[in-house]
Amino acid sequence: MRDTYDLAVVGAGAAGLAAAISGARRGASVVVLERLARAGKKLLATGGGRSNLLNDNLSASAFTSTDPGLVSSVFDRFGRTEIRGFFEGLGLPLQADESGRVYPATNQASSVLKVLELETGRLGVAVEAGFEAERVDASSGGFSVVAADGRKVGARIVVLAGGGRSYPALGSNGSCYRLAAAFGHRIVSPVPSAVPLVIKDRMCHFLQGQKLRARVASKIGGRLGRTYEGELLFTQFGLSGTAILDVSESLSVALNREGKKDTAVVVDLVPFMAEEDLAAEFSRRQDAGWAVKDLAAGLLPEKFALVLPQLLREADFPEGKGSKGEAARGLAAALKAREFRVLGTRGWNEAEFTSGGVDGREVKPRTLESKLRQGLYLAGEVLDVQGGRGGYNLAWAWASGFVAGLAE
Ligand SMILES: Cc1cc2nc3c(=O)[nH]c(=O)nc-3n(C[C@H](O)[C@H](O)[C@H](O)COP(=O)(O)OP(=O)(O)OC[C@H]3O[C@@H](n4cnc5c(N)ncnc54)[C@H](O)[C@@H]3O)c2cc1C
Repeated sequence: MRDTYDLAVVGAGAAGLAAAISGARRGASVVVLERLARAGKKLLATGGGRSNLLNDNLSASAFTSTDPGLVSSVFDRFGRTEIRGFFEGLGLPLQADESGRVYPATNQASSVLKVLELETGRLGVAVEAGFEAERVDASSGGFSVVAADGRKVGARIVVLAGGGRSYPALGSNGSCYRLAAAFGHRIVSPVPSAVPLVIKDRMCHFLQGQKLRARVASKIGGRLGRTYEGELLFTQFGLSGTAILDVSESLSVALNREGKKDTAVVVDLVPFMAEEDLAAEFSRRQDAGWAVKDLAAGLLPEKFALVLPQLLREADFPEGKGSKGEAARGLAAALKAREFRVLGTRGWNEAEFTSGGVDGREVKPRTLESKLRQGLYLAGEVLDVQGGRGGYNLAWAWASGFVAGLAE
């Protein structure tokens, strides 16, 4: 490592590597400073090891931020076409599934990291592993980045790309918030997102390990939120699965940032049938003398036999008794909109994403340069920009990283 560079990038994740490549391609000398022993550790874990690195339906409307204009401004400069072109130009053919999720053709996240590392190597980017940036000091030539162990590197421009707080074992431990805050940046309180939910409910206990397709919506202060459909997984601590990860952000913000207590998730366990059809089917089965535990046979996984009596009790029809059709209607209603009170989230170690971060209004939307300190840029998850699951967050990391690396 030399003493000084044109550009020092803090963090060798998706955003940091993209910033390093775009900076070096326009002729800057670049160093990437990475706290872990190797670059791109989180990348290797993305998409279940396949890396869902983009979504073909990319649009700024799939993101939330303190400054929504920031996202569209960045994608105007480096959007879906440019991200695809970037990877194909690195020698990484891509493939998309029917929902627009884009993966490397090899289906291996390691291929993504490999081509990025080949390119940083070709461009002569220095990668300093085991360098945890503890301070970024202003200096006459720009900045001096100081590591926890006392190492120092000078740079005219610094890109903060250290990610959020989620999955600290994969590198991002929230330390970049402190570096940005030292320059006066406001940090929108980070909360775990895309995270399993903690729920105390006998149903979760009886059904733990059971997966099924379901529709879920948050209910906060009595108000229903957006509906998501996908996998639901009952666990010993509550609920998980893709549908829960999708719905978790608003619940986590309500619980962990806004201190709300009235938080629930409403689950439609039979999304393929209308409620009145389900009630009619239960009624037919009751008339035919089916036992309560068998009423959902063929409609729901076998394990549900364990919880049907409970659901009937909740619907005020112990043992399925009641006037003709009432118990059937009660059971259908319970299965179509079962409410689970949410007590919390499983926290940072299981969160795929961080909601919150450096206030998006404090960076220039075209360049991502800090409005508070010339020469300081921010990119990736460290900013208060969040996309849905499905390749949106990596898309933001590539795009914002590439744009920040164009710093002059
Ligand atoms: C298990 C998992 C699966 C995911 N799958 C997908 C997916 O398939 N598709 C998708 O779009 N998104 C996915 N995500 C989210 C996505 O990975 C992140 O949004 C994205 O990686 C953020 O990129 P980043 O470069 O901003 O931050 P990160 O990837 O977190 O990289 C930050 C880097 O900075 C380093 N660093 C942090 N602080 C310092 C410091 N002080 N000094 C030096 N280095 C530092 C960290 O060690 C890390 O290497 C997934 C996340 C997880 C955890």
